[in-house]
Amino acid sequence: MSEMNEIGLLKEPTILPVGRYMEFVVKLKFLDDAIIRSNEPEEVLTHRYKELGNRFIIPWRKVKGRLRRMVMEKQRGLEIGKFEAKEGELKGEEIFCHLKDNLCLQCPSCFIFGGTGETSSANVPYNVLARILGETFISTTEVGEIKPLTAIAVDERTQMTGRALMSIVAVPAETELIGVVTLRDPTAEMVSIVVDNLQRLSRLGARTVEWGRVKTEILGYRLSDREELSAYELVNKEYDEIKKELKEVENLTLPEVEEAYNKLNNQVKALLKKENLLK
Ligand SMILES: [Zn+2]
Repeated sequence: MSEMNEIGLLKEPTILPVGRYMEFVVKLKFLDDAIIRSNEPEEVLTHRYKELGNRFIIPWRKVKGRLRRMVMEKQRGLEIGKFEAKEGELKGEEIFCHLKDNLCLQCPSCFIFGGTGETSSANVPYNVLARILGETFISTTEVGEIKPLTAIAVDERTQMTGRALMSIVAVPAETELIGVVTLRDPTAEMVSIVVDNLQRLSRLGARTVEWGRVKTEILGYRLSDREELSAYELVNKEYDEIKKELKEVENLTLPEVEEAYNKLNNQVKALLKKENLLK
C-alpha cells in the first residue's frame, strides 16, 4: 500500500491504480446567454432524463479538453513538457507537449489526462491512463423551451451557403450546471494543479459549440476509496445541502501551483525511469 499523508492523499504518484478517489463537486454558471449551434449529430446539448426532465448538459470530454489545454499552457510557461519528437511531421525537433499527436507522455499534463504512446510523436512504448475522470454536467433547472431550428449553414472554407441542418439552442445566462470531477490516486501536487485549473476555468468552447463565459466554483470534495457522488443525484439538491456533505477545498493545505508542476514533473520522470519506460 502506498503511503498517505494525514488527510489521505498519496505521498508519491503511482503507476498502478491504488484505489483512492478525490471527488470534486463543481458548479458551472453561464455569465452570458449562450447560443449553441450544432450541425454534428454527436453534439449533445440537452438530454431528457426520465426523472429530471429535459436538462442542458455539457459532456465531460468538453470540460476535460478545455482543462487539459489550460494545464498545458501553464506548464509550457514553466518550460515543462519539452521533448524531442521521434515521429511525425516534427521529427527531430524539440517541441512542447501538445494535442493531439504530440503528447510527450512524461509531463504533469499527460500524467493527469492520459495519452497513447504509440500514436504520439514521442513514440514511447507505453500508454498513460487518465487520472482525471468526469461525467456529464447537468443543469440544475429544466430547459424551458427548446427551439431546435433549421438554419442555413455557411461553409467556412468556401463561404457558400448550404442546406445543412443545424440546430440552435439558446442557454440563458445564469444557467447553472453541476458535475463531479474525480481525481484517481491523488497526491497534493496533482490536487493543487487540478484545483487551480478548475477554479480558473472561465470559458468553454469548441469548434462547433460556443458556450461562452462561465464562472466555476468547487462546492467541495470527498476523499474516499470509492466513487460515491453523481451529478444526477446532486442536481436537485440545495447547494447548502450539498456543501454540508463535503469538505472545503479552501481548507486543504496544498503546495503552490508552480511548485506542484515542477515537483510532479520530476516525480513522473523518476517513476518512468524506475519502471524502465524512460531512458
Ligand atoms: Zn505531455
